[in-house]
Amino acid sequence: MLEMEREYSMIDTHTHIFPDKIAPRIVEHMKADPKNQIPLSGNFTLEDLKGYMARCGVEAVCTFCVAERPKAVPPANDFLISITDHRTIFGFGTILPDMENPVTEVRRIREKGLRGIKFHSVFQPIGAGDENLFSIYEEMTRTGMIAYFHVGKDPNHPSLPARTNPQDIARLKERFPALKIVAAHFGGLFMLEEARKWVVGKDLYMDTCWGPNIQSLEAKEVIDLVRSHGIEKVLFATDYPSTLDPGLQIEWWKVLPLKKEEKDLIFRENARRLLGL
Ligand SMILES: [Zn+2]
Repeated sequence: MLEMEREYSMIDTHTHIFPDKIAPRIVEHMKADPKNQIPLSGNFTLEDLKGYMARCGVEAVCTFCVAERPKAVPPANDFLISITDHRTIFGFGTILPDMENPVTEVRRIREKGLRGIKFHSVFQPIGAGDENLFSIYEEMTRTGMIAYFHVGKDPNHPSLPARTNPQDIARLKERFPALKIVAAHFGGLFMLEEARKWVVGKDLYMDTCWGPNIQSLEAKEVIDLVRSHGIEKVLFATDYPSTLDPGLQIEWWKVLPLKKEEKDLIFRENARRLLGL
């Protein structure tokens, strides 16, 4: 049988989602926090995520459901497994090193079809360089899973040191050269100088989400960052819904003076290669 290759217009490799019961609580929590600096353009439900995709011409997403406590890890992963369809929605699992048998959980979610894990040092008490994550990285390397890291500052506490900083990513790459790594936020949210020093140009992927939106960076700087890193290792991403209007950001990208071939790579081809599509 002849099967048509599915075409992707855009792939957004960094989005967030929660089960319907939990999503409203997350939104309320963010709105009630006077220190919160993270914008919201959606409500973290699957239906809302699908609405964003349809509205903005995003044909596939990677999406994360981050567990802050060990007890929440298996149900979060079960939720991601239940929504992953391998054509449009790729759930990336969650893990915590102090849960019971984390390596067994990594193996379980891989067998159930999750391609990677998001390590979120803002919402989880972990940093990419923590030694108690090493057995997890080893298992992920063995099965070709993707390790996706929040890198850089906590937007709500920018004066605090980052739990995962750009140098941690460089060290991790040295220690686990075969691990597939994605460094979010150009390799360092609100730490671009350090990102340039430690992450840019390395043999790993970076994504393009920025806070509160991509327009808060200069076009010139974004072009220089993606070309310096290597266009074939840059993934288009928005952090939806934790971002300002993603539609406007996509319009910003579309008119950015990059070559069409460069945009094709960033918008979808790199993600297709990474996800094996
Ligand atoms: Zn995020």
